[in-house]
Amino acid sequence: MALRFYNTLSQQVEEFSPAHDNTVRMYTCGPTVYDFAHIGNFRTFTFVDLLRRWLRASGFELNHVMNITDVDDKIIRNAAAQHKSLEEYTAIYTKAFLEDCGKLRLEPPERLTPATQHIEDMVLAIERLNTSQHTYTSDGSIYFRIASFPEYGKLSHTDFSGHIAGARVDVDNYEKADARDFALWKAPKEGERFWKTRLGPGRPGWHIECSVMAIKYLGETLDLHAGGVDLIFPHHENEIAQSESLTRQPFARFWLHAEFLMVEGQKMSKSLGNYYTLRDVLDRGYKPEAVRYLLASVPYRKPLNFTFDGLKSAEIAIERLRNFKRRLETDQFIAGCNEKLTFRTAQASKAFIEGMNDDLNTAEALGALFEYVRETNSAMDSGEFRADNVRTAADLLTQFDQVFAILEPTTATSHILDSEVESLIAERVAAKRGKNFSRADQIREQLLADGIILEDTKSGTRWKRK
Ligand SMILES: [Zn+2]
Repeated sequence: MALRFYNTLSQQVEEFSPAHDNTVRMYTCGPTVYDFAHIGNFRTFTFVDLLRRWLRASGFELNHVMNITDVDDKIIRNAAAQHKSLEEYTAIYTKAFLEDCGKLRLEPPERLTPATQHIEDMVLAIERLNTSQHTYTSDGSIYFRIASFPEYGKLSHTDFSGHIAGARVDVDNYEKADARDFALWKAPKEGERFWKTRLGPGRPGWHIECSVMAIKYLGETLDLHAGGVDLIFPHHENEIAQSESLTRQPFARFWLHAEFLMVEGQKMSKSLGNYYTLRDVLDRGYKPEAVRYLLASVPYRKPLNFTFDGLKSAEIAIERLRNFKRRLETDQFIAGCNEKLTFRTAQASKAFIEGMNDDLNTAEALGALFEYVRETNSAMDSGEFRADNVRTAADLLTQFDQVFAILEPTTATSHILDSEVESLIAERVAAKRGKNFSRADQIREQLLADGIILEDTKSGTRWKRK
């Protein structure tokens, strides 16, 4: 079965392929860099990473654009409170975001692009919307007239025909019940950062940045647009209204949305004390790959309940797979090939692909893999697994890890001192001499986890930092 996704726009599961050549033109909404990103944000970004990796595993090339929202109400407020310029303030959280993405092994998009570098592009787009009668001005701000776009509501499947014409909303985020004409350009308030432009002084609203950057870099019709479910309304609905009013073309063929993340069964909120940034979780001693695994293991369209027990289970699951990989690499198997097991491996690989092709059903894909690992471990114990079965089993793990990316342990930036390395190497030499090979191996592993690579030569053990 071919790759298929649930499309929020059509409310159907549809077969996916790019419209033109082999390249998927995709746009995903990036972070607002006003604070450290929380684990709910990273659920969506991890979903996007799985999506990227699976599209590529399916043979497509990617042209993926993600924005950085580096101007908005919260940023302006926080920067002013800390007596920092907008640039100084957003640089801190942009850097933190990229570091966090690195820890979670999220691939960078082909283009990561800050909103404030596109002010002129946004001014041009708003001028064109002015010309085509989709806007009006009030108190120096420019609003998109949603009555001018009869299809408004088609993504969130909501009938907004009863809304009050001419009523306006100035904030960027609001509920469906408060659907109003939204701000494309905001007049500056006292003391606020603004840009001097042909539209007058002010700054862009949030929604226009995504329409403008997506069309600029990817063309009038994207293959795929994704984000969290909280963005369906108003953000993505507004992106469609702006973009399609500008181009008269469908803005995106596929819309994919990741569900919410709960913490210990409750909505995450600062007031409940269950609000976690990625940094909070890692500070508790959990490995980033355990967080990645937990976020990836629940299919993106299902709500995810983030629990610390779940993180512990994720660590166990990862260890099981790493042990299996280690066995493939180090166990001695009887020569020959067990054809039944070769067939079983091909079956597991097919089931894994089927799971991922089924709207990225990671639970199904993981289920197929773990069943295979359990059976194969038994076959190894009983001696049925043969030397020539290693390669296909290893290929299956590679196929899995190209998407899930958890098999390699994180080697934290090493803080181990040279003298400590030397004394552990001395201990290892002594252990080997005393034929205590398990201790010697343990030391090698321990050093490797600290980013130290050992090389045994005739003249002794050499070492280097990774
Ligand atoms: Zn967006």
